[in-house]
Amino acid sequence: MFSKFGSSGIRGVANTEITPQLALNFGLAVGSVYREVVIGHDPRIAGEMIEHAVISGLLSAGCKVLRAGMVPTPTLALTSKVHGCGIMITASHNPARYIGMKVFKDGMSLDTGQQEEIEDLLENEKFTRADWEETGHLDVFGTAIKEHSEIILKNTGSSDLKVVVDCGCGAASVITPYILREMGCVVITLNSQPDGHFPGRQPEPIDENLKLLKSTVKAAGADLGIAHDGDADRMMAVDDQGRFVSGDKMLAFFAVREARKAIAVPVDTSRVVDDMLNGIKISRTKVGDVYVAETLKKIKGEFGGEPSGAWIFPKISLCPDGIYAAAKLVEIVEHEGRFSRLLGSIPEYPVKRGAFPCQDRKKAMTIIAERLERLGEMDTLDGIRVDIDDGWILVRPSGTEPKIRITVESQDRCEELYEKAEEIVKGAIA
Ligand code: MG
Repeated sequence: MFSKFGSSGIRGVANTEITPQLALNFGLAVGSVYREVVIGHDPRIAGEMIEHAVISGLLSAGCKVLRAGMVPTPTLALTSKVHGCGIMITASHNPARYIGMKVFKDGMSLDTGQQEEIEDLLENEKFTRADWEETGHLDVFGTAIKEHSEIILKNTGSSDLKVVVDCGCGAASVITPYILREMGCVVITLNSQPDGHFPGRQPEPIDENLKLLKSTVKAAGADLGIAHDGDADRMMAVDDQGRFVSGDKMLAFFAVREARKAIAVPVDTSRVVDDMLNGIKISRTKVGDVYVAETLKKIKGEFGGEPSGAWIFPKISLCPDGIYAAAKLVEIVEHEGRFSRLLGSIPEYPVKRGAFPCQDRKKAMTIIAERLERLGEMDTLDGIRVDIDDGWILVRPSGTEPKIRITVESQDRCEELYEKAEEIVKGAIA
């Protein structure tokens, strides 16, 4: 049975890989560990089907269940600070046919140990079923959005900027435009009607999916544009010139303003962050926002982020919060001036990325390691990273697909280093 937790919970195609039967067992497994659970879903078509099955499992285990309805992931995560555990039914930025389940505790995604506990119960069907008279209760939890909004508004100032918000027909539709209006912004919305078919654009907030946002920011003469993924834990931005802001730049933009002593970023993050944050301890983690959150908790850092658009502000929670990030960005631009000018002070180093199909990733990585070792000192935190004087090469097996990925960053020799890495990878998978 498909039941492996990835770094983002369980995810797959709705009703083939992720079935109500699996969801029922998942509910039983989580309910065997936690006594009270808040459950929510994004607008995906299969969301309610899976939610009902998970709820049945939770109730069967004797759990108290609170239904938050359609909410963003960071909104749901926040409720787990008070209510023991949160389950979000979402497939984040994946295409519409996908669905998944992600568990939160104390405002953050389950750590590796907690995930393994649920996974073991699920795989071995070691469920605790309640006696007939002790099966659980179901209640409505109608204040999740209000509570999240209040926390965000308390931590940001007012603004009269003109902002275009593209919610991608995802869960952000029910919160981000309202919060920005509450702050005083003039808000123009795009794709802000929740729709599980995602008719406006693909849910991933990457440059190629945001043509409408870019052109609208320009046409409306707006100060900036905001884009979310399907469940709004991610946020990406467009500047006042209608240009997409890269993830590395956005990360540095937040990091220089939030960092006091320590931050956490994944191993594929640009050296721009190191060059801009003198005196700040920068911990590198495996790729995946869960690992960034785990490290942040350990080092008690003030900020963590992933260039994919996941920004973690521990003073709110250890779940990436695209909605708070949007409000925070608006506040910064309100106080510091034109977004494009602020971005102009952040350097951008040439980066090249590629992916190569590979069935036996383990074998290939052994060969790759032998060859990369000759280039410089190796770091094996996640895949293999080799730091060279004027840049670095990262070769890592994909966690979700049969592929090996290359990332290269270098001021002057990006192309040359990439070719070298490509030759090594191709030689190892031949
Ligand atoms: Mg997401």
